[in-house]
This record gives sequence, C-alpha cells and structure tokens, in this order.
Amino acid sequence: MPNVLEEHIESSDVQSFIERVLESNSSSGNEDNSLDSCTVPESLNLRAMLRSAKAPSQFIDDTINSERYTAKKLCTAFDIRPSLADFDRKDEKDYYALLAALVGRELGKRVKLTEYNSVEDAVFLLQNSNNIIVLTGAGISTSLGVPDFRSKETGLYSQLQQRDGLDNPEEIFNLERFLEDPKFFYSFANKLLPPSNGVCSPTHSFIKLLQDKGKLLTNFTQNIDNFEKNAGIDSEKLIQWHGSFATASCTRCKEKVDGDNISQALKDGKVAQCKRCPSSEGLKPRPGRKGSKDAVTGVMKPDITFFGEDIDPKFQKRLERDRDEVDLVLIIGTSLKVTPFSNIIHELPSQVPQIYISRDHCSHNQFDIEFLGECDAVLAELCHRAGWGLKDEMKKMENVQVKVELCQHYQSRYRFKAEHNAEHE
Ligand SMILES: [Zn+2]
Repeated sequence: MPNVLEEHIESSDVQSFIERVLESNSSSGNEDNSLDSCTVPESLNLRAMLRSAKAPSQFIDDTINSERYTAKKLCTAFDIRPSLADFDRKDEKDYYALLAALVGRELGKRVKLTEYNSVEDAVFLLQNSNNIIVLTGAGISTSLGVPDFRSKETGLYSQLQQRDGLDNPEEIFNLERFLEDPKFFYSFANKLLPPSNGVCSPTHSFIKLLQDKGKLLTNFTQNIDNFEKNAGIDSEKLIQWHGSFATASCTRCKEKVDGDNISQALKDGKVAQCKRCPSSEGLKPRPGRKGSKDAVTGVMKPDITFFGEDIDPKFQKRLERDRDEVDLVLIIGTSLKVTPFSNIIHELPSQVPQIYISRDHCSHNQFDIEFLGECDAVLAELCHRAGWGLKDEMKKMENVQVKVELCQHYQSRYRFKAEHNAEHE
C-alpha cells in the first residue's frame, strides 16, 4: 500500500496553503463551524492514537485507509482553525500534504508529563521549585496599554497597516532597509517607544517576586520595552532576547551609548548620528557590502534585534548553562511563534515541568498545565493560593475576584476570568 503521506506535492501553492492553515491555530474568532470537523474528544483521542502508533503509516491505515476518515476531516483533529475558504480545495492530495505536516508537528511536540494537571499542582510546583525559567512575550505588557505586534486590529503591525498605510510593517525592523534608509525607521520610531514613566505590569512584579524568593533562574523575554528594569529584575537574571531600547549602537564604529542619548531623536523622528564617527564624507566603501551605504554610516541604531540580525551568542551560552539547573518553566504572555525565541523550550530538558499562561492557547506546543486568561489575574490567583503576599504592582490585583474553570474535555487546561471592581479600573 502506498504511503499517502509521502505522496504530497511540493508546489508553492500547496506550501502556502499548509502555512496558512498551520498559522490559523491560535488566532481566535476564526473558527468556522460549518466545517465537517472532528469533535474535541475525538481529536484528543486521535492524537493519542497517533502517539501510540508504531509508525505514522499505522495511524493512516487505522483512519484513512480503513475508510473511517477522509484526509480532510482527519486534518481537523490537529487543533487547527482554518477558514472555510482555505479549507475548500478540490484536490484530496492537498489534504494529504497538510496531514503530513500536521502529523510531523504533532510528533515533534514534547510529551506531556502526566503527573501535573491541576491548579494545585501548579501551586505546588511554584512553591517547590528553586530555579525557574520564565519566558515572556508581549502579552505581559498589554495591560499597560502597550500594543503587541501581531494581534489583529490592536497589534502594532495592524495599526501601521491601517493608520499609516504600510503594506509590509515588518519592514520597519529590516536591517538592510535600516542601513539603506534609516529615516524610514526613525519616522515610525515614536510609535515603538515604550512609555518612560517607570511603569510595569503586575506580571512583571510577579517575576520580581520570584527573584525576591530566590526562585528565578532567568527571565528570557522577547519584549523590547525594558519594563523588567522598572520592576527591579536584576540584569543578571534577565536576557532580553531581542534587545531593547536601553542602549543604542553606531552602525559603523559600534560605539554603544545609553538609550537616553537618542530618545529625543526617536521621538522627533530625526535620525541620530554617531557623535564619535567622523562626518560621513570621504569614508571608504565598506568591504563586502555591495553598493556601499556611505551616506548613512555613523547612524545610531537602538539595540533591538532587527530581522536579518543575529541573536547575541551569549544568550545561547546562557541557555546551555541554565539547561542543567532549571526545575520549572513558566511561559507567560507569548504564543511562541517567533523563532528562534520559540525554540528555547525545545532546548530545555523535556522532563522539566512547563506551565503555560496566556490569553489564547498555543496549539503547536504541548505543556503540562495551561492557564488561559489575563496573565495578571492568573498570577495573582496562583500567589493567593500559594499563600504569597502580593507586592508592588501585584497589589492592584488584591481586590480582583478570579474565577477558575476547567476547560471542557481537557484535564489540565483552565480558563481564568477576572472580575475587576469598577473602583480599581
Ligand atoms: Zn560611530
């Protein structure tokens, strides 16, 4: 019998179809109930079947080849939310190709630890772990009114598209573009700057609390807003994976300065020149760079990581060190979509428990316990149950009632709902 999973077509159309469907998973509100899809219990059962199968071909024999499922319907067992328009392809082979990608993704996931499931288990882990790695993303700053990058409507990219008419807003962070035309970045920089009034969110204060209790090993963050500093998190404990606005460097001589030195230029949208570099006139073309960009040499660039720029090799070293010490991983406010940050969890020992806390669930990874809701509320509730007093910004959550419900069909996924009192808004 031919292995249908190996027969997929590698056309770019099929590839982009697969990418769209894989991307569709955590964007909520995208569900189309008119699809003939597997139910949640059926999906969970099918995925367990795949994991216990001797080989993927056995799984295919038991499902498609025995005519219990079409490839199209089987695809819906893998936690995807494709739009109907996307999921209306004539060629059945396209669904085989998608299924191959989904099966590969499923088998690549870490195996969940069966002993940790409840809120009490999470509290136990917090109380008894001493080397916690916290991975954070934009979701921990949105309660401060700072937009994340990728949310529909409210995200920064979406705003730049709608309000500023940028077709490809990610271009702002393109290194080549910056070197060619730094004015482009500077003209939008005021929209990227975090508020400078020393704020941080209750979630930042929670991470500080872990530090005070001697439990924080490292906070790896994707955020460039530098709020961790405001919360009092030690620079020793913090890895700003994508850099931050705290410092800036000259693109030519690499002179590093405090971010304050260029903050006015960023606000005014005027390109900040390096004070150390000589005037750009008369400089030799830089070797190896085609069509040398002499006209823009000596420009200051905030030390945030642009597309096309390498991650600091020190960070990888730190991860290698932490790998031997970590005893709990908290993933907070990130859907882990941006590589290489999203690969961090794959580099940690899979037997170390992982707790996921975010607004929406993340279908391309498998965690031990998942808490969905506002991260500030989730963490306040966990502190409360752990008997930990709320400190600093977490005090804002003192009078917030939090309802916790187990999500239907799941054993370790909970929905937290905060009921904010009007006087605390
Ligand atoms: Zn310079």
